[in-house]
Amino acid sequence: MNHKPSIMIKRRLLFFLTVITIGIIGLIFRISYIQIIQGDYLKNLAWEQQTRDRLIAPQRGSIYDRNGIPLAQNASVATVSVIHNQIQDKEEVIEALVDVLDLEYEEVKQKVERVVALERIKSRVDKEVADKLREKNIPGIVVDEDSKRYYPHRNLASHVLGFVGKDNQGIIGIEVKYDEYLRGIPGKIVTESDAKGRDISGGIQKRIEPLPGNHLVTSIDIVVQQYAEQALEKVLQGKEAKKGSILIMNPKTGEILAMANKPDFDLNEPFRIQDPTLQVNWNQLSQKEQMDALNQMWRNFSINDTYEPGSTFKIVTSTAGLEEKVVTLEDTFSCPGYRIVADRRIRCHKTGGHGTETFLEGVLNSCNPVFMDVADRLGAEAFYKYMKLFGFDEKTGIDIPGEAVGIMHDIKKVGPVELATMSFGQSFQITPLQLIRAGAAIVNGGYLVTPHIGRELVNEEGNIIKIFEYDNKKQIISKETSDIMRSILESVVSEGTGHRTYLPGYKIGGKTATSEKLPRSNHKYIASFIGFAPADDPQVIALILIDEPVGIYYGGTVAAPVVKEIFENILPYLGIEPKYTDQELTLEGVGDVDIPNVLQKSLSEVRQEARELGLTLEVLGEGNIVKEQFPLPGEKVSKGTKLIIYIE
Ligand SMILES: [Zn+2]
Repeated sequence: MNHKPSIMIKRRLLFFLTVITIGIIGLIFRISYIQIIQGDYLKNLAWEQQTRDRLIAPQRGSIYDRNGIPLAQNASVATVSVIHNQIQDKEEVIEALVDVLDLEYEEVKQKVERVVALERIKSRVDKEVADKLREKNIPGIVVDEDSKRYYPHRNLASHVLGFVGKDNQGIIGIEVKYDEYLRGIPGKIVTESDAKGRDISGGIQKRIEPLPGNHLVTSIDIVVQQYAEQALEKVLQGKEAKKGSILIMNPKTGEILAMANKPDFDLNEPFRIQDPTLQVNWNQLSQKEQMDALNQMWRNFSINDTYEPGSTFKIVTSTAGLEEKVVTLEDTFSCPGYRIVADRRIRCHKTGGHGTETFLEGVLNSCNPVFMDVADRLGAEAFYKYMKLFGFDEKTGIDIPGEAVGIMHDIKKVGPVELATMSFGQSFQITPLQLIRAGAAIVNGGYLVTPHIGRELVNEEGNIIKIFEYDNKKQIISKETSDIMRSILESVVSEGTGHRTYLPGYKIGGKTATSEKLPRSNHKYIASFIGFAPADDPQVIALILIDEPVGIYYGGTVAAPVVKEIFENILPYLGIEPKYTDQELTLEGVGDVDIPNVLQKSLSEVRQEARELGLTLEVLGEGNIVKEQFPLPGEKVSKGTKLIIYIE
């Protein structure tokens, strides 16, 4: 064999070498061509892409309450940039920017000197400030209109509304959920320029107008929301509680009138932490710790978090027992203060026992053994059937992102002890929203509603372009059971543990709860109350949770009076007239003040008038002239009633 390369192989090698050399030479030519010959052209192409299409942000749609009062709006702002190639006098540009925008000289100089097509100097500049720059008309400075999200009521319904990021996209709340409808479509500014990117149109720019987003009308009633928030804040302060929530819903439609969580945050400064302790140490926290703290502040705990409902859940156990006909109102039970279940002794809250009592009395007493017996008669399977029917194992479908679902034992693991504790609202967790939805079904004739905030979309011209529809038709219990439950729960308020909600002129139904938080050894509580009115035809249902009240912590003492206070104010406001009994009419102070007409009056006049009549005053809006009032002129109210005015 011949081991030297053959002529053939040598020729092949030479061939490849030649090809590679030609290839490299070709590449060098190509690169030079691109750099030398095409350089200007390519530079200009990039230039065009960046500057010819200056985007104009669309107006994001507003968010309104149910009566058209704005909850989220836009303020006109501007974005100021420089176009490097158009600058004629660099110093003039820098000085104007420093002066008008109140910026540091060095910072502006760096940006102005940067050789890029378009350099953003400052965004979200107030319109008046931006107009000053426009008037100067300095070559190289461009001022584009933009819009800034603005929440006129700051903290109001902050967890519900949510807020937007730098580019106006929703971050949390309904700002996210309805982003696709609210955001609109950006427009463009096209500037004709020559090969070097210089403006050749003499400043004439072609505009393609942005399409504004649609407006969202919500079910929130700002007056009801305000009452709920104030009442909640007051009780949390008074009880030095950690946090709290109030939900107020129309039980027939699922429309949320108010959803309040405290502590809350300012929607106009959503990244500013509100907790005073955290504020002090803010800069020492890691980025992750800061983000966690912000996320915690933004949590809508009435839908994002679960809790053990405790005794308010007895309304579900009662309903299931009545619907399955394992119990009647007259059935008798006996409570020695505990029940022995399997090998466990499970206590009633009244250690001495309630003795012999009917089922109705058992509900009024909120007696645990009665509910353990009812659950025992139902059995785990039927009990779980109702857990499912009431939707505790699923999301309610509310139009706010991040909803949690109930956490409960696998039915296979439910023995007598688990069932007994579940009967009075322990050993499983649900969200407050799930509970109020179940409560609504119990009192509205048996229909499971879809809690929701969004009602309709309105376009720029004010025409309704879409009405959101929700499923409210699924009947899960009979009307008969619902009727009985309403009257039982009315008795709870008129005679039982909820008597602190009694309100002259109105029939109110409800149930209190005092849940001991886990671990039980900490002795921390959640006081709560679920209530509805009028009891014979419920128009509103409310749920309040007070988390870790200090001192007295019973739901009936702490939570029920708050709902009473809210109902006292919102029922007349919602057009639900009081019907006093003869006995109630003889009580002092009922219906002895005539509401005056304060429309078009000044704030100071109204303040004085309210003081003289013994009315408390609630001022909404900003300005000095009254545009709306509630109650309406001529209505008869009692002293101390709140007069709400909207000023502009
Ligand atoms: Zn008892």
